[in-house]
Amino acid sequence: MAKTQFKAESKRLLDLMINSIYTHQEIFLRELLSNASDAIDKLHFKSLTDSSIQSDFSIRIETDKKNRTLSITDTGIGMTKDELESNLGTIAKSGSLDFKTQNPNDALDIIGQFGVGFYSAFMVADAVTVDSKAYQSDSSYCWKSEGADGYTIEKSDKQNIGTTITLHIKEDSGEETYGEFLDEFTIKRLVKKYSDYLRYPIKMECEHSRKKEGAKDDDENAWETYKTLDTLNSMTPIWKKSKKDLTDEEINGFYKDKFSDFENPAKVIQSKTEGSATYSSMLFIPSSPPFNYYTKDFEKGLQLYSSGVLIMEKCSELLPDYFSFVKGLVDSEDLSLNISRETLQHNRQLRIIAKSLEKKIRNELALWLKNDREGYEKFFKNFGLQLKYGAYASYGADKDKLKDLLLFESSSENKLTTIAEYVSRMKDGQENIYYACGDSAEKISRMPQIESVKDAGYEVLFLTDGIDEFTIKILAEYDKKKFKNIASDDINLEDDEKTKETEEKSKQHDSLFKLMKENLKDKVLDVKLSNRLKNGAVCLTTSGEMSIEMEKVLNAMPTADHKVKAQRVLEINPNHPIFEKLCELERSNKEKLKEYSELLYVQAALIEGIAPEDPVEFGNRISKIMAQ
Ligand code: ADP
Repeated sequence: MAKTQFKAESKRLLDLMINSIYTHQEIFLRELLSNASDAIDKLHFKSLTDSSIQSDFSIRIETDKKNRTLSITDTGIGMTKDELESNLGTIAKSGSLDFKTQNPNDALDIIGQFGVGFYSAFMVADAVTVDSKAYQSDSSYCWKSEGADGYTIEKSDKQNIGTTITLHIKEDSGEETYGEFLDEFTIKRLVKKYSDYLRYPIKMECEHSRKKEGAKDDDENAWETYKTLDTLNSMTPIWKKSKKDLTDEEINGFYKDKFSDFENPAKVIQSKTEGSATYSSMLFIPSSPPFNYYTKDFEKGLQLYSSGVLIMEKCSELLPDYFSFVKGLVDSEDLSLNISRETLQHNRQLRIIAKSLEKKIRNELALWLKNDREGYEKFFKNFGLQLKYGAYASYGADKDKLKDLLLFESSSENKLTTIAEYVSRMKDGQENIYYACGDSAEKISRMPQIESVKDAGYEVLFLTDGIDEFTIKILAEYDKKKFKNIASDDINLEDDEKTKETEEKSKQHDSLFKLMKENLKDKVLDVKLSNRLKNGAVCLTTSGEMSIEMEKVLNAMPTADHKVKAQRVLEINPNHPIFEKLCELERSNKEKLKEYSELLYVQAALIEGIAPEDPVEFGNRISKIMAQ
């Protein structure tokens, strides 16, 4: 029979598995048992509405040392011919598998990241067969593969619904003792280690010994061996066990296995709640964002169990978007078992659970921030963006829940700060919380607009993410202190006397500013004397709600069909020699003043990271001046 080739990506993965020097080959058993348990979950769920389904939900392990085979039989949902083809012939999960390297050491990461557990069988087996009969199907099929060459599928005569996976264990060679996977003792140990919590019995015939009836102690043949079908796992779902009976290793192993991660979770939130909603939950915050976290492919949600039966793999109603990074499960007795996805959305009980979980996560994050700053900052680097979006989303509906969980860089601390911490450091009489926007803290701290604010002794929050200013604008104030962009044109940090002086000087030179404004009429709303510049000659500020950073963010969006524009104000430093020059040109050479106005505008825009509209023209002008 002709072999069908594996899809290219699967083949590469398979090569990695076959040639794996990965030392934890033993995890193959965990992967196959988890698949078996998942398959039973699916049929278990169907059995709630289909009484014809037999109820022996179990997994059976059998070994045959002579033929070197290990088989795992489940009474789960099974696979049709098409499913065998698509589930085992290709990695259907992520269309974008991109193996950057062929290094076999990376196999572990790949197993974890893409949940390609089945393929791990090839770490210990040189041939694998999968004989399966699907629920509601009359025929059964057997899938066979001896590795990267491809696979065959043919009809089989399996009688019961479910799947039997048979591994032909590789021959031992040198250090590699694959034969141990056929030992009863090894299998028992591995089931205890990795799969003890699986909710269906994992059964295997085990050998025991006993004293023969009536035999005397000193009789050489007093002992006999016999076999019984034993259940190897304790079957208590891990989330039903009390915290003191669980080791970190068990919890981490459970998380990695169930939620396809290859790193331990950064935080585990485990709880049992009674009251308006009765449920147990086990939630995890990953150590790194899933590879597709910030894409539209990412689906949030928690596994939902009803009295131990999995009823939904990803219940999105249980998590608000701003906590979409949380993984985990909820088990409740209050939910009716044959709840459908449609009715679930309107289920009152579910809403109560979701509300309670949201509060729990929020409290846990607040405690994390308080008690383990370093850990929280690492978390925030991974998922802080989501919290900031959360505070901004829905016109700030959730901002009060999230505002104290946000961190920003700042001018006074060389580290991240909360808004509350900023406020606690505010000077007497300081009314505003100042912030500045830019690509990086380093760039912001060199902005000309910031000098006077810093000189006045005020701390400035550095907003470096595109979303930041939108979030700050939605917050509007904190502790009755208003947020203020240092680049807005209505900031005045000078005392009354100085303000008067600037006003007078402005009046004196009114005609100059009018002329410059006229010269730059498509570009700026106004040209004025600056009261904030120390060393810089010019800077841009903005009038109104929209800042230059917001303009950049909005215009960069793919949906932006017409560009928005912040209302720019060009500010000129009265103490810079260029100011004298401008005054002189106003009297002597209006044409040159026009040219200078434009050059100064481009300079100010460049400082804001805005490229000149016509770089060639700009370059030519500079060269001309240099040649004079
Ligand atoms: P994952 O379990 O992470 O999805 P696997 O490669 O282990 O990845 O399995 C691929 C798919 O094959 C599973 O999602 C499931 O649909 C199917 N599958 C694997 N083992 C079984 C089984 N014992 N019974 C039914 N379906 C199975």
